[in-house]
Amino acid sequence: MFERIGIDMNQGRIVKVSGPLVVAENMRDSNMLDVVHVSEMKLIGEILEIHEDKASIQVYEETSGLGPGEPVVSTKSPLSVELGPGLIENIFDGIQRPLDTMRSVTGSNITRGIKLPALSREKEWDFVPVKKVGDMVQAGDIIGTVQENEVFQHRIMVPYGIEGTLESIEAGKFTIDKVVAKVKDKNGNINELTMMQTWPVRKERPYKEKLSPDAPLITGQRIIDTLFPIASGGVAAIPGPFGSGKTVVQHQLAKWAEADLVVYIGCGERGNEMTDVLMEFPELKDPKTGQPLMKRTVLIANTSDMPVAAREASIYTGITIAEYFRDMGYSVALMADSTSRWAEALREMSGRLEEMPGEEGYPAYLASRLAQFYERAGKVKTLGSDDRVGAISAIGAVSPPGGDISEPVSQATLRIVKVFWGLDYNLSYKRHFPAINWLQSYSLYQDKLSDWYRENISRDWNKFRADTMRILQEEAELQEIVQLVGIDALSPADRVTLEAARSIREDYLQQDAFNEDDTYTTLDKQYRMLKIILAFYEKSQEAIKKGVDINDLFSLPVRVKISRMKLLPQKEGSKPFDEIEEELSKQIEALYK
Ligand code: ADP
Repeated sequence: MFERIGIDMNQGRIVKVSGPLVVAENMRDSNMLDVVHVSEMKLIGEILEIHEDKASIQVYEETSGLGPGEPVVSTKSPLSVELGPGLIENIFDGIQRPLDTMRSVTGSNITRGIKLPALSREKEWDFVPVKKVGDMVQAGDIIGTVQENEVFQHRIMVPYGIEGTLESIEAGKFTIDKVVAKVKDKNGNINELTMMQTWPVRKERPYKEKLSPDAPLITGQRIIDTLFPIASGGVAAIPGPFGSGKTVVQHQLAKWAEADLVVYIGCGERGNEMTDVLMEFPELKDPKTGQPLMKRTVLIANTSDMPVAAREASIYTGITIAEYFRDMGYSVALMADSTSRWAEALREMSGRLEEMPGEEGYPAYLASRLAQFYERAGKVKTLGSDDRVGAISAIGAVSPPGGDISEPVSQATLRIVKVFWGLDYNLSYKRHFPAINWLQSYSLYQDKLSDWYRENISRDWNKFRADTMRILQEEAELQEIVQLVGIDALSPADRVTLEAARSIREDYLQQDAFNEDDTYTTLDKQYRMLKIILAFYEKSQEAIKKGVDINDLFSLPVRVKISRMKLLPQKEGSKPFDEIEEELSKQIEALYK
């Protein structure tokens, strides 16, 4: 019968369609994780499971209208991404299809089964060799560069598995599929190198050695750098109750974090969430260059017209691209927003596969999958003979339903990441921004980074940080007492603590992302500001012991200056801070008389 309707008995056939899951029979020759083409439309899917001759396939495009009997053909290769010039400034979907190019071909409703290369085969790039004929090269060695745009230099590397002598290398304008160099290996075989390589997304790209993160990823955001720093190559999580300022924090990090480039993976649920990102990100200006931030950004976005399964692939596509740039020796900031939506895609697929559900219906392997993703971040010594170091710092947003972080995705994430920035709806309601709750948040990098802060900023830094945290914690305890018995019951020492805590919160932790002078604070300025606030605390504690009136202390004229020091332009250096410190000492001394 099948011959009659023109179906090849040797190829796979659909037996069942259930949303993004397609089951096909006659798939004995395929392998797990092979990419397959489903139906005559050649929809892209990936084999998740094989039982005897039946394959369960996750399809990355809409499956409506598919039915039993339609053909399924394995490509015999795993889901891979194209890596080369043209990544930067681009916007891809979860399986690296270029959204803008697709739209220009098919209009705003993306046609199913459309096949377009991820990177343009038409655009020519100016390849500038840095190696010469006769040089020995190995995997990871940089053989040339391409200036992708005004701000970003792409480094062309020898792909994994290739080693030998450069037989030829040519400067000039080439498309990414043209041979730019030839490498002769020790058996005399010639390998032709183009500016592009491919890599299977579910496999970590190799490096020489993972290094322990020992320097902060400086963000210029005071609460982050001072109290809850993330290491360069570190992993952090940020929950995002709606309206708590998550987007602003992410934009601030994308703009200001000391990273050479940003990979932003958006797995939005509602169409708007993603459209927001697609609209907003291209508008952001890079403060360091004055150019659009997109000039050092790769965006991965799943728009609402794509099925959930594409979200599942997107975080692997994103981290593989980030790894490729890390291999060049760059520092990459990777943001995944939100990993909860990604986990929901995993749950949906697991349900359709009829796997045994774990907590709240998530598959039992949720935690290990999350760990595998975050473990691909980190600081590494890359392949290649020149001992480059590169880093991926990963920041994952979680969006727990109702903001309750006791649910499985948040809990699994918290066990993996080392930094937690707890956004607090109550703080944002009071307009305390960034609304990161200082009592709930933490950074486990603190100890590892303390040497760095001591050597690079000040010997006092770690003490200042500890004092700041202590005062904030004491404030929380004192506030409970105040609620019970009123402020008058507190000792003058406790009232000084409360006042110092208020100053820390308002004069230091609150930071206006939209104020030119406040939006970014250098570590040096952070140090100077803290020093003054803590000096006010110490000197006031001393003064009240000697009988100075607390109200005189609280109304010192210098306190107005303290409250405005965050607005002192960075370029004025340390002088205005020295002056404030001096005024503070003089004004307190005057109270002794
Ligand atoms: P979310 O993404 O969590 O829904 P947003 O990041 O869009 O919330 O923030 C909501 C609003 O809060 C912003 O439009 C802005 O007015 C304010 N806001 C958030 N963070 C800051 C900040 N650091 N400085 C100033 N305003 C902020």
